[in-house]
Parts: sequence; structure tokens; C-alpha cells
Amino acid sequence: MGAEIRVGAGWDSHEFAPGRPLWLGGLKIEHPLGLAGHSDGDVLLHAVCDALLGAIGAGDIGTHFSPNEAQWKGAASERFVRHAVQLIHRGGWRLVNLDANLILNQPKIQPLQAQLRESVAVLLGTTSDRISIKAKSPEGLNAPNTAIAQVTVLLQREGTHEA
Ligand code: MG
Repeated sequence: MGAEIRVGAGWDSHEFAPGRPLWLGGLKIEHPLGLAGHSDGDVLLHAVCDALLGAIGAGDIGTHFSPNEAQWKGAASERFVRHAVQLIHRGGWRLVNLDANLILNQPKIQPLQAQLRESVAVLLGTTSDRISIKAKSPEGLNAPNTAIAQVTVLLQREGTHEA
């Protein structure tokens, strides 16, 4: 049997708010505003997590880490991603590549791109050549204070596993 492949799609949005650190892709970024949310608000990692879970049909981030549970308040989103990575590895899956769009006005992503790719690659146990992070401004969305992340992943496993 040949290799099996799966695609996963993740999407998330968070609003910028004062008095919070900005976390993106597992990096703490110098910026006057952070992203609001129950956890650290890392919109990119939340979409990464949902894409991974979606690819293996394992629900979404809220299934595994309910926002109603106090233990996840202020949680580092790295934990969510590490859990999703464990699940895909347990199923014999490996990441082929990840492609992300970040839609936000500020901060400018271009100067951070290499660092973001590296950070996400390390979290996913892969190399940054398999990680793409692109950025757009939210034109016409009437959401100037919102950060949106959209992530697609492709997973592959050799055909020795039961479905
Ligand atoms: Mg979120």
C-alpha cells in the first residue's frame, strides 16, 4: 500500500487589546498591544493546532482544551500544539508542509517571517523549509483591530496503519 495523505484547515481570529503581551507562532513579540483570549491569544498557533487536529479528524482545539476550564487561562498555546503533534505522531503521521496566512495590520510580519517559520518548525519537530508564513492586511474586512490566522497542513503516513 502506498502513502496516505491528509489535508487539514485551521482558522482563528483574536482581537488586539492593551495590557497583554503579543504572542504569535510561539514567539513573544515587542508590540504595544497583545491578543485577547482565554489562553495567551496566539492566533497563529491556535489555527496550526486546528489544522493538525482537523487533518486527523480529532476535533478542534476547544474539544481538547475547553475555554471554560480555568486551567487553560493564560496557557501557553505551545502546549496545545505539542498535544496535537503528539496525536498526529501517535497515528503515524508526519507533516509534509504547512502554509499559513496571517491577516492583520500590525505588527508588520515581513521582518519577523524567518523567526516565525523557525519557531513553528521547532514546535512541529520539522524544518523551516516545510513552513510558510505569509501576511496580508485586512482590507475591506472592517476589522482593523483583529488578527486572523488561516493554516493549511498536509500530512503523510506510510500505508502500514489501520484506518
Ligand atoms: Mg483562538
